[in-house]
Amino acid sequence: MDVRRERGSTFHIDDQSVLDLRGPKNTVDPWKPYHILAEEEYSRHRKLETVLTVFLTNQECPLRCTMCDLWKNTLDSTVPIGAIPAQIELALSQLPNAKKIKLYNSGNFFDPKAIPTADYDPILSRLDDFDTLIVENHPKFCGTRCIDFQARSGGRLEVAMGLETHEPAILRKLNKKMDLDDFDAAVEKLLDAEITVRAFVLLQPPFMAPEAAVDSCLATLEHAFSIGVDCCAVIPTRGGNGMMEKIKGSVGFEPPELFKVEAVADTAYRWNRGRVLVDLWDIESVSKCESCCLARVARLQAMNETQRWLEPIACDECGS
Ligand code: SF4
Ligand SMILES: [Zn+2]
Repeated sequence: MDVRRERGSTFHIDDQSVLDLRGPKNTVDPWKPYHILAEEEYSRHRKLETVLTVFLTNQECPLRCTMCDLWKNTLDSTVPIGAIPAQIELALSQLPNAKKIKLYNSGNFFDPKAIPTADYDPILSRLDDFDTLIVENHPKFCGTRCIDFQARSGGRLEVAMGLETHEPAILRKLNKKMDLDDFDAAVEKLLDAEITVRAFVLLQPPFMAPEAAVDSCLATLEHAFSIGVDCCAVIPTRGGNGMMEKIKGSVGFEPPELFKVEAVADTAYRWNRGRVLVDLWDIESVSKCESCCLARVARLQAMNETQRWLEPIACDECGS
């Protein structure tokens, strides 16, 4: 039996079905980022550097991806002009000095309903001291606004896009409104404009046979690096948005176990083809062994920071 076809065949997903299963949004303020943080990340300049992240409050993304929970901290309408620069100002007043900043807006930075175009110049002038501006964006929004922003920024842009998976059937079920060709064309356009590209890649997305998850994730990373993506962020797929719980109850879904995250990292760090950043948020929750969990997560963190493969952790308790 083709488990993947079986898993995908009975489950219909469209925008309305995703919307119908959502819970309430959090209350957010158009003049305040909903979260800020500073962390150490291996940068496009091939060294560990402090990177600030400003989680901007803005209008909800118009796309309705199956696994997305970013809508929880968004607004139903466009923010007033001036609100985004004000959020950045507020964030910078509370964060340490750094040279790299992520402006993550739970959607697409170059969607003018999300980030008003009138705010581009005020944003850029406030970020004069940064050498890298990282924004998230869908291939559909990688047009002239994006290319123009790169020129106005003096070539400091890095664009992060959700590739998720190289498997066309699963990509369709993720309701991404793009196929692999769309992604590849967007990467080509960004690279032509000398924009650094980062891709988000899901480990064990819904509708994928769990036993195929590691190989499929690695194949997706390979594809991304082969077309010039500089950095792949590997995201272990999680539930929590309504639709994912329905999928779990209907055709089955589980977040990938820690050993699968390690298996992807073990191979990808040895390729030495581009940056690989494994998302370790709440990763302890998918560990099956309390004895070695912290050490294993620390190893993944160290590999993230050095981009070098490290010896696996041995554990007498679980036999890992
Ligand atoms: S494009 Fe990104 S922000 Fe928009 S729905 Fe999909 S995953 Fe969420
Ligand atoms: Zn163990």
